[in-house]
Amino acid sequence: MGIRKFNNRIKKFKENELFQDEMLKHTETYLEYIQGITHGFSYAPFVAVEKKLDFSTYVPEGFGTGDCIVIGGSTLYVIDFKYGKGVPVSAEENPQMKLALGAYLEYGFLHNIEHVQMVVVQPRLFSDASEYKIPLQELLDWGEEIKPIARKAFEGEGEFVPGEHCKFCKAKVTCRARADQFTALDDFKQMKPPLISDEEVGAILEKGEHIASWIKALKDHVLKESLKGKEITGWKVVAGRGSRSYVDLDKAFQHLTISGIDEAVLYDRVPLTVAKLEKELGAKEYRSLLEEPGHVQKSPGKPTLAPTSDKREAVTNDVDAKDDFQ
Ligand code: SF4
Repeated sequence: MGIRKFNNRIKKFKENELFQDEMLKHTETYLEYIQGITHGFSYAPFVAVEKKLDFSTYVPEGFGTGDCIVIGGSTLYVIDFKYGKGVPVSAEENPQMKLALGAYLEYGFLHNIEHVQMVVVQPRLFSDASEYKIPLQELLDWGEEIKPIARKAFEGEGEFVPGEHCKFCKAKVTCRARADQFTALDDFKQMKPPLISDEEVGAILEKGEHIASWIKALKDHVLKESLKGKEITGWKVVAGRGSRSYVDLDKAFQHLTISGIDEAVLYDRVPLTVAKLEKELGAKEYRSLLEEPGHVQKSPGKPTLAPTSDKREAVTNDVDAKDDFQ
């Protein structure tokens, strides 16, 4: 792409009403990650961006888009940029492996590939990219393994196996196999009084988390369907609590001022939060004006529950003997 065409694209991108300066910061992180890989070679490696990859050899009608493909040395890198921060995505055991198969099918005959590195860059959640490197043969074996399963699923045969992967499925809200899984709370009916064990508490909480998000998805689904006029047994849509707003804010406030209402009554003067001010000032000015002179203090966040798979270090209020003596 020529530089003028590129600049025009950026300009158009910035004109979009959804554009925020913060986006450039995050895409910069993604770019830096790719540069870190490409600059690691003594020659220019092969790079392809936004490449449609066909893996229908393994999964009927299977295709996807590879955000960035790099081939250097004997490694094929499949890099995925995730701007969202709702669901943390790991490169390990990720369906992205199918894209890697597609990338190998596309470029494998031109390059001597021995390893495949799958990467997820999710800068709004993690400062480090999630990387998963495997020998090419492992990927190809996995491809052969999923081939018959994918064919069966495509033909509407085979078993429904609910799991983490369901969150990407279009049928996730009304899939019976998934719904059956949530009725498994009945398992806990067998628990003996008087107190449930720590293991049981952990297991109930884990199941409960999944149920809570499923219930939310069900509610959204019922609301959408009911608004379309469909009848869902036991539920209907009603008008929520209304709100009031000014017909014309400027005119209304002008009228209030003329009528003798003091400005102090009309406006709240609220200082911007540190995060908002950093965004307004830019990182450099924020550091020199606020952080370096010591006007900003950092306090740890409120303790919050997370599953053991969470990458953050566990914290506790327990004070050890060493701390006591200090
Ligand atoms: S929601 Fe149902 S159909 Fe979709 S992946 Fe899960 S088990 Fe399979």
